[in-house]
Amino acid sequence: MRPRSDRKKSSPRSLSLTTPVRTTTTSTFPISSSRTPPAPGTRADLVSTLWWQDRSGRVSLGFTSVEVGNLAHHVGDSSDAAVNRGTLESQLSLPQGSFRYLNQVHSANVIDASTADSIPTGDAWISTDGSHPLAIMVADCLPVLFIARNGGGSQLTAAAHAGRPGLIGGVLQNTVAELLRHGGDSVTAWIGPGACGACYEVPQEMFDELTDGRPALASTTRWGTPALDLRSEARAILESLDVTVVDIDGCTIEDPTLFSHRASQQSGAPEGRIAGLIWADS
Ligand SMILES: [Zn+2]
Repeated sequence: MRPRSDRKKSSPRSLSLTTPVRTTTTSTFPISSSRTPPAPGTRADLVSTLWWQDRSGRVSLGFTSVEVGNLAHHVGDSSDAAVNRGTLESQLSLPQGSFRYLNQVHSANVIDASTADSIPTGDAWISTDGSHPLAIMVADCLPVLFIARNGGGSQLTAAAHAGRPGLIGGVLQNTVAELLRHGGDSVTAWIGPGACGACYEVPQEMFDELTDGRPALASTTRWGTPALDLRSEARAILESLDVTVVDIDGCTIEDPTLFSHRASQQSGAPEGRIAGLIWADS
């Protein structure tokens, strides 16, 4: 991977709790793709809670930025993560401890939030009545958020951590299957920011193995070496399952307002995790 010399130091800033959350669009379900990330360097950027946010029916969804700070206990300073999680919930006017976080292990396991332990091990969540606020942590892997409707008109929600092992292992297929098994239909998936196909360099041997039979996964870096396009593969998987895909395009390696595991490894900047979030009005 090439150095990213212009990457900002990813230290969280203090945030105004009185500033309303910026909502980029208000949509009725289903929506067309719309992305309006904060303009860099503006006052709004300094106080915005989410990198991107939208709403469908009674469900809100979004992705955090470095402005919220690191949200993971397993990287960086875990006491900061606890504070940042609480600040995030305050800014979204949610009770403390609302969002559930998984012990993510790059598996394809889908957890039912209504019956799960406090911190279950898995890489996707489903809330069969949409009532559980769900968080999924990423920094180069894709956060994928889901809404499905059931026959009664209520909404089911889900969130998945789709990196290279998860995509290969079937985490997206498993998540969609759980939504359908619980009566969901008309599934829409929002694919959030992750490492892009022009940045996600892999060894030739890995490229050959993983792209065999997965043409959408094959890519080339900007500098001409083998790479994987996780977003393209995720879109291909979801569309093959008749899921409506909303692409919230963004590259964690290139965008300094997002945490990137690969960029941190190269630059030495502190590690952090952003989160994909989905929650319903109470
Ligand atoms: Zn990129």
